[in-house]
Order: sequence, then structure tokens, then C-alpha cells
Amino acid sequence: MVDVVVVGGGPAGRALASACSARGLVTSLVDPHPERPWRATYAAWADELPAGAPVAVSTSSARVFALSEHRIARGYAVLDNERLRRLPDDVRVVRGLVAERGRGHVVLRDGRLLRAGTVVDATGASGRAAQHAVGVVVSAEQALPFVGEDEALVMDWRRPPDAGSADPTFLYAIPLPGGGVLLEETSLARRPGLPLAELRLRLHARLAAQGIPLPQAEERVRIPLAARPRPGAFGAAAGLVHPATGYSVASALRLAPEVARAIADGVAVDRVVWPARARAVHALRRYGLAALLDMPPDEVPEFFDLFFRLPENQQRMYLCDRADLRGTVGAMAVLFRTAGWRMRARLALSVQSAKAVRTPGERSGQVKIDPA
Ligand SMILES: Cc1cc2nc3c(=O)[nH]c(=O)nc-3n(C[C@H](O)[C@H](O)[C@H](O)COP(=O)(O)OP(=O)(O)OC[C@H]3O[C@@H](n4cnc5c(N)ncnc54)[C@H](O)[C@@H]3O)c2cc1C
Repeated sequence: MVDVVVVGGGPAGRALASACSARGLVTSLVDPHPERPWRATYAAWADELPAGAPVAVSTSSARVFALSEHRIARGYAVLDNERLRRLPDDVRVVRGLVAERGRGHVVLRDGRLLRAGTVVDATGASGRAAQHAVGVVVSAEQALPFVGEDEALVMDWRRPPDAGSADPTFLYAIPLPGGGVLLEETSLARRPGLPLAELRLRLHARLAAQGIPLPQAEERVRIPLAARPRPGAFGAAAGLVHPATGYSVASALRLAPEVARAIADGVAVDRVVWPARARAVHALRRYGLAALLDMPPDEVPEFFDLFFRLPENQQRMYLCDRADLRGTVGAMAVLFRTAGWRMRARLALSVQSAKAVRTPGERSGQVKIDPA
């Protein structure tokens, strides 16, 4: 019997297991392939990350191209996967697949039983609405037509020279440790996700237009955006994924110590992960997702043009502050006020379709959280 079993060894599970160990809790982490390196490149706005987060490379600014260019004086950070994966020596790592999870035990597929005071599900998310992307790594010099030195290209909505469908996609470009640059063709939100073949076609067309030879390896991204949050969960499994951006790693890193403290104090994990304000913010953010899912392709860049015209602190509130209800409402209100009538109508209508995207705690049998 241990204090905590964390099921799932992704960024969230490992951050939580480390935080539990730091609290003096006897902790086990279960994952089918605990030694397998991560192939994903995890990034976040630098000011979203907690102090001491393992950053591999960071830039001092970022850029967005929607209908026009927006320069953003916020740093962007790429995380160091090796350090993010590292666990304290006293966390027991169990190789296995959890087949059954109860409040105080898990049963692995091979029949082993692990007992714990608290079991946390950090097994990631699934769902139909998804962000898809295909990326390749090129040298910094080759990437210069897309992204300059010491900057991240968060979104470039200009259409690639070749595309097989009208779906809106953007180019994302971030520097990597070792001097390379990741160029990724991304479909922000679609139900179901845009086929990877279409994203590959567009990315290759962008490279070919600049005379850049095709690298062999590619990064494939599939991020479920409106996954049903599970009770007693953490990370993407708990619905921490931002409905409009697909990001969750920074939130998980920030929340892990608080969740560990709650476990040590015998407080339910869901109470810390989903206080009332965070649920309200999530409900508002899902309007953003519903609006994106419904928007005609050619209007999506217009939406982001409006968004990145917001003052930077309001952009940050909407993108990063998961429990700042006032800030989120303020940002949305300014965006709405500055939008033209057609866009306003779309945003208002999205309130209706947002009902199809679930908010944590809103259905019985799902996460039930006492108001904080
Ligand atoms: C390629 C890619 C790039 C991304 N880039 C970013 C980014 O830049 N920034 C960002 O914030 N987010 C990013 N995301 C989205 C999201 O943050 C990631 O999906 C992140 O990995 C979620 O972390 P997690 O630990 O919650 O879940 P996961 O990373 O999905 O980890 C879940 C773990 O649980 C294990 N598991 C599953 N089922 C079981 C079981 N039954 N028993 C035991 N173990 C189990 C899995 O093997 C896995 O190791 C990206 C996603 C992808 C796919």
C-alpha cells in the first residue's frame, strides 16, 4: 500500500508524481512504456510556466500573422523533455497497463493489484474534436523565410501554395535545442481532426516554395480538444487541455504542487483542479472552441486578427489564466466589441453550439465538484 498511485507517465503524471514525492508521499507511477522517450515537442508561453520549469530554449518575442502581422513581446519556451520526464528516485515506477481503477486500488492487465490511499488518472485524453499537425525540423537558416532568430512564429494563417481543401491551417515555427527549427502545419480545431495527409501536403508546399529539401522525419500531433474530463484525474485526462489552443502542459506543471498538497491533506483532487472559477472560465473558453469549429474557413484568420489586436495582458488572460474569470470575460467582451457585425453574430451563435462541448462537472456521473 502506497499513498498515491499515478496512472500514466506523461508530462502531467510525472509532474504530479514528483510533486507528491516532494510532499513526502509514498508514490508509484504506472505506465506501459515508462522508459520510452517522448517524441512530442512541448512548448508554452514563458510567463505561463512555473519557476524552475525545465526550459530547453526560449525566445524573447513571438509573432502572429493573421490578416496582418502582430508582434508579441512575450517569451515563448520549448521544454526540455529529458528533464520533464525525470522522476525523483523514491517514486516507484511500475511498468504496466491499468485495466481497472478504483478509489483505492488499480488492477493491471497482467492481474497485479496496487493499493493506494489515492489513485490519480493521468492517462491523457481522447475525443473527436481535435487539433492535428504535421511538423518537420529544418536548420535555423532554412527556416529564416518563416521565422527570425530569437522569435517564435505562433501562427501564420497565410495560405500555403498548395492545399487540397478549404480548411484553415496555419504554420507554427519554434526553435529547438541544438539549433534546428520545428515547422508545423497545424489545424487548430476540427471535428474530426483534419487528415494528416492534407497537413503534410501543405507543409511540403511551403517548403518547396522556399527550395527547402524535405527532411525525413516528421512530428505528428493529435490533441483531443473537448475530451470528457474524468473524475479523480489530472492533466489532459482531467480536461486541462485549453479548448481553443490544445495546450495543457504548463497548466499541469503549475497545478501539480497544489494537487499534491490536496492529496496530502486528504482533499479531493477535483476540488483543486476544478474550482468554480476554473469551471466558469472553461465554459467560456469552450465558446471559443465552438466558434472556431463553426466558422467558415476564410473567417478564421479574421478572428485571430481581432484576438491578437487585444492588449497582451488580455491575450494572456484568455490563453493562460485558467481561473481568472474576470480577465477572461474582459478579453472576450473587448473582442466582441471590436468585431464587425458578421463576426459578432458568429460569436453569439457559438454559445448555442458550445452546448455540445462538455464542461467539467456539468453532467451527473462526471466530475462532481463542490463549489470552492
Ligand atoms: C505531438 C504533440 C505535441 C504537443 N505539443 C504541446 C505543446 O507544445 N504544449 C502543450 O501544452 N501541449 C501540447 N500537446 C498537448 C498536450 O499537452 C499533450 O498531449 C500532453 O502530452 C498531455 O499530457 P498528459 O500527461 O496529460 O497526457 P499524455 O502525455 O497523453 O500521457 C498519458 C500517459 O498515460 C499512459 N497511459 C494511457 N493509458 C494507460 C493505462 N491504462 N495504464 C497506464 N498508463 C496509461 C500513456 O502511455 C501515456 O504515457 C501536444 C500533444 C502532442 C500529441
